[in-house]
Amino acid sequence: MTEHTLSLNTPVTVLKGLGQQRGECYKKLGISTLGELIAHYPRSYTDFTQPVPILSAALELPAVVEGEIIRIMPVQRIRRGLNITKAIAREESSGECFTLVYFNNIYATNALKVGETYRFYGKIEGSMVTRELHSPQAVTLSKAGAFSPHYPLTAGLTNGMVAGNIAQALGLLRSGNLLAETLPPELLEQEGLLGFQEAILQIHRPAGQEMLERAKTRLGFEELLIMQLGVCMLRARREALVRPPMKPVDLEPLYKPLPFTLTEAQNRSIKEITEDLERPTPMNRMLQGDVGSGKTLVAAGAAYFAAKNGYQSALMAPTEILATQHFNTLNPLLTPLGVPTCLLTGSLTPKRKKQLQQEIGAGEYSVVIGTHALVQGGVSFKSLGLVITDEQHRFGVEQRATLAQKGDNPHQLVISATPIPRSLGLVLYGDLDISILDQSPAGRQTIDTFPVSGNLRERAYHFLQSQLEEGRQGYAVCPAIEDNPDMELQAVESYYEKLSKGAFKNFRLGLLHGRMSGPEKDRIMGEFKEGAIQLLVSTTVVEVGVDVANASVILIENADRFGLSQLHQLRGRVGRGAYKSYCILVSDNYSEESRQRLKILTHTMDGFEIAREDLLMRGFGDFFGSKQHGLPELKIAPPTVESLEQAQKAAQLLLPRLEDYPALMEAVQNKIKTLSNFQ
Ligand code: ADP
Ligand code: MG
Repeated sequence: MTEHTLSLNTPVTVLKGLGQQRGECYKKLGISTLGELIAHYPRSYTDFTQPVPILSAALELPAVVEGEIIRIMPVQRIRRGLNITKAIAREESSGECFTLVYFNNIYATNALKVGETYRFYGKIEGSMVTRELHSPQAVTLSKAGAFSPHYPLTAGLTNGMVAGNIAQALGLLRSGNLLAETLPPELLEQEGLLGFQEAILQIHRPAGQEMLERAKTRLGFEELLIMQLGVCMLRARREALVRPPMKPVDLEPLYKPLPFTLTEAQNRSIKEITEDLERPTPMNRMLQGDVGSGKTLVAAGAAYFAAKNGYQSALMAPTEILATQHFNTLNPLLTPLGVPTCLLTGSLTPKRKKQLQQEIGAGEYSVVIGTHALVQGGVSFKSLGLVITDEQHRFGVEQRATLAQKGDNPHQLVISATPIPRSLGLVLYGDLDISILDQSPAGRQTIDTFPVSGNLRERAYHFLQSQLEEGRQGYAVCPAIEDNPDMELQAVESYYEKLSKGAFKNFRLGLLHGRMSGPEKDRIMGEFKEGAIQLLVSTTVVEVGVDVANASVILIENADRFGLSQLHQLRGRVGRGAYKSYCILVSDNYSEESRQRLKILTHTMDGFEIAREDLLMRGFGDFFGSKQHGLPELKIAPPTVESLEQAQKAAQLLLPRLEDYPALMEAVQNKIKTLSNFQ
């Protein structure tokens, strides 16, 4: 290792004991360089400084306890491939003894010394009188002075390895003076922030709660600042683009024949959009509205407007089913009005596809609806003026950019069914203007929503069965397991097994999950739509706008693990037809807080209100941290809405002299790439 060439860009394999193989594991976490490694922050910490008396620690929950090892038992070989080692510890303050149990890990007990006192962290198990800890982490008292970090991991990496590698990297970089300050000094002073070096050391090994908070504040502020600077630059870039303005168009022919009048919110959104279309810069607007708020009709207005100006529109949906759904809605409205509409998906025969592509290129269709197939090389437009994408966060930046390049700075409209509070949207989506449909068309049915505890599961199943027997269909949605798609897959598969062999063995069940290929998902959804499947067991992939009017009940397992907005979205899968519909939220979490949270859904059907309440109850950090909103991913969730606004202000001040801070500038440029994922 040559110290003088060391930098944040040095590959992690420079570290001792970190070879090619472990390097590959790190790559899976997006880490190749030392800079990326030290930016791999702990997901949580164990506070070893505050042990609790073992008898007051709650069963089935993790805790830190203290005890002196009084005995280490011989290894028990239970069967091939399973041995158990145990040790007995005694808590000095109470004299209470407890057992430490390790499975296939004789090293753990070998490392313990009789007569020495340790602090242990692990899940507390036991009965009224006995206490056990399974595979606890143990630290000696001399090491119990700080928080111990828990890192996000992947196969092949243990927490100990990651902690060790990061400690070594920090040591090297620090002694080489390479943990250089990234923010302007006056900004640090003005905001009362820790310096970079201090903050990065503290986030990995906090000296205590207060330092941890300060480290998070500093690193979180920097992250938000970089994001906001990126957003400002994107906006400036877009506003420099030009395109011919469109002329006003009368939308009456489109909306007049409908059997209902548009809501005020729809009219307002249409006005905002058409005003943008009449400007000489490309629109970049998000249309947000709850499921069923009538977004499709607003989008139709935009496409009609563009068509009457001689421009083609492309509407891209994330799945074939959704694209087909849009086509079936829009085609009968638009085509008779001289706005020929077509559907382009991957499942067309090559011959038909080629023909359609040719016709699109010749300008024979004004509105082209499709899936990713729209992005492919063979598709070109005669005059693409408007790009509409449905459910933005399912599309990557490249797909949207590729589609936009098929036109000459076309207008862009992104449709999203995940309401977020307006104050938040304005800051976060700095480069997007937002139109909000916060009104439901009259006559929309309320979905009766019942939170039930796990011990009433059987009764919930009975209710579900009775709905299926009446000829309705239903969804059973399985636990969300964040950060671990493998476990999620396991969970939904075994849940499906359980239901299809047990309570629902007399019904036709289908299984749907995110690991299936697109065509496979489409096939299952197709069978569900046709009624061949009565009960669809699924992960949250079913969330995206699928319309099955006959579905009248959705049962959601482990509902407490979902964000309220996501539950609300899931609930929107039912109640789409004439049948009275129900949502059953099953939860084994009996805490008052969880109960209160779920109860919000029983009171209201308004997605914006639900998002607001969710934000209030969970606190900003949690709300932001969950992936439900398709919000930009941040390593450190901002603690408050104010912290976002603070970063936005600082960004505006800093922008004109950003060139003076090359490190920051570089970070912003890197950020812009990922930012565009949601812009
Ligand atoms: P979204 O895309 O926002 O989920 P849609 O545009 O699919 O909602 O609309 C859902 C249903 O409501 C459609 O059947 C549509 O025809 C109907 N709809 C839309 N706007 C209105 C309105 N103003 N009044 C009554 N029904 C409406
Ligand atoms: Mg829709």
